[in-house]
Amino acid sequence: MRLPSRILLYLIICFLPAVSIAQTNAAPAFRVVPLGILGGIDESNLSAYMIAPAGSDNYICMDAGTLHAGIEKAVATKTFSVTGEQVLKQYIKGYFISHAHLDHISGLIINSPEDSTKNIYGLKSTLETIKTHYFTWESWANFANEGEEPRLKKYHYKALEPGSEAAVDNTTMQVQAFPLSHSNLTSTAFLVRSNDSYILYLGDTGADEIEKSYNLQKLWEAVAPLVKAKKLKAIMIEVSFPNGQPDKTLFGHLTPKWLMAEMAVLKNLAGSVKGLNLVVTHLKPPVQNIIKIKNQLKADNPLGLNLIYPQQGIAMVF
Ligand SMILES: [Zn+2]
Ligand SMILES: [Zn+2]
Repeated sequence: MRLPSRILLYLIICFLPAVSIAQTNAAPAFRVVPLGILGGIDESNLSAYMIAPAGSDNYICMDAGTLHAGIEKAVATKTFSVTGEQVLKQYIKGYFISHAHLDHISGLIINSPEDSTKNIYGLKSTLETIKTHYFTWESWANFANEGEEPRLKKYHYKALEPGSEAAVDNTTMQVQAFPLSHSNLTSTAFLVRSNDSYILYLGDTGADEIEKSYNLQKLWEAVAPLVKAKKLKAIMIEVSFPNGQPDKTLFGHLTPKWLMAEMAVLKNLAGSVKGLNLVVTHLKPPVQNIIKIKNQLKADNPLGLNLIYPQQGIAMVF
């Protein structure tokens, strides 16, 4: 009995490194919990996505249109095994706000009295809007560390410089911001890194051709090497309207056609985007439009992207 078990142990020790390396390569890098997924009217389900390195409970939240309703749903579906209060106060270590439209920030404002102290990250222009329009004593209370006095200092504004990677406090992740064109505003894409893996979250954006911009071109140039190296695990990008919405009434948003046009630019830079995980966000009600968007994307996906539709409260791993 003794000898076979020793041989077995020897074999395990010999093959363990190979097995664990193989598992590391295949293992997911990120866990994403959508707290809200729609691009309008349903105030219980607006853009907000928690992201953490797989196996960690130290999340960041990309946009914060809906917090409470999404967290409650995630707890009810057992995506989290702690209370909603713990998810809000302990799991979310910071917010990344792509732009200050209400559907991306109202959850953060409304939940602020119950929240714990943390950072709000964003481009300077986004933080300025939050500072002067929302965390003021006329529209709410100033829970932040800058702006109108008195300042309650629960939240700390952290301005991100485009082009330089910033470490996220209380997590092991780094984030780089890229400006996006969104009608009259500057929106933001956040490139999140955990070790050598990346996930890209885009706030609202229109296509370069419509927006008369090079912002997406520059973003695709920056991430193309990561796509090539298979280090970019997913792109989370908006499609707000179905094809048929006239270009002049897109208001800085994408349609299936314009998404695929932008993906063609990325494909030309990266060689291939076949099988790349593309999480489609910010679909705008009514439901007939959402069905149309999904059908149009399915019918015209020449690059072979892996189209994924997030569900509120249901975790995804990449
Ligand atoms: Zn929006
Ligand atoms: Zn917007």
